[in-house]
Amino acid sequence: MKPILIAHRGASGYLPEHTLPAVVAAHVMGADYIEQDIVLSRDGIPLVLHDIYLETTTDVAVKFPGRNRSDGRFYAIDFDLDEIKSLSVHERVDGSGTAVFGSRFPVVDMALRIPTLAEEITLINGLNHSRSRSAGYYIELKAPALHRAAGLDIATITLELLEGAGLNTPNAPAFLQCFDPATLRQLKTELATPLPLIQLIADNAWGEVPGIDFQAMQSDRGLAEIADYADGIGPWIPQLFEPDGTTPGELVQNAHHHGLLVHTYTLRADNLEAGFQTFDALQEGVFIRAGVDGAFSDFSDLTRRFIDGMDR
Ligand code: CA
Repeated sequence: MKPILIAHRGASGYLPEHTLPAVVAAHVMGADYIEQDIVLSRDGIPLVLHDIYLETTTDVAVKFPGRNRSDGRFYAIDFDLDEIKSLSVHERVDGSGTAVFGSRFPVVDMALRIPTLAEEITLINGLNHSRSRSAGYYIELKAPALHRAAGLDIATITLELLEGAGLNTPNAPAFLQCFDPATLRQLKTELATPLPLIQLIADNAWGEVPGIDFQAMQSDRGLAEIADYADGIGPWIPQLFEPDGTTPGELVQNAHHHGLLVHTYTLRADNLEAGFQTFDALQEGVFIRAGVDGAFSDFSDLTRRFIDGMDR
């Protein structure tokens, strides 16, 4: 079976991430799945937004001066949907306002909006119909603890929306992903979703989920535990390889031994992993030598072309 192509935040290598134009482009480029990162607004609406903050991809600091927290950041959870809808989305910038990826779309105001998950489902369902080509949903629940602290259960709220859209069914073209194992267990047992669940694996240095040892998760015992509640893992590309960066390690075959899928992140043609000289060399390392079942790519057209050219 060929590996699946997951468009990482849409066609984010070419258009501002998670905007509807980026979704359309990813669909046209032939992505098998299109990723949605979910953060809730203060009034509990699932937004398609990568960061829990707004200032890295919008003009929130200009439109709502003073609405930041003491750490200087503007949290999406502190804004109602109507306020969020007044923001203009631009290409990702760093703390000094400089584009993170200099060769991507310019940092300009095109009156793009942060989409809600409901709006994005309407768009993808519409494209699946008009293009007679189905792209699925690959939905990440971001920062469950932050939402819980604000009195909102992101898993329950998101699943209710999917239920209403007819997507919380065994055959729906959708995956759910999360870094927090407790939330995946909640989805599996308490909320009893039939959708396949993917345990994302961070580097411990990122402090992604306090108290969770992502190194231990990659051990035989860790993978066996994951197999109790999830259908696959989502490792970071360097975790697929030995410390030299390019020799495949044992993670993929060990995960397969436990019946787990492996969907790795993130293929970036303009930010290659160390040790790889070209994007196709990186794709060969990930898809052919490491043997993953799928990958997130910022460049869906280039990854589509590579996968279509594979023998398996
Ligand atoms: Ca994500």
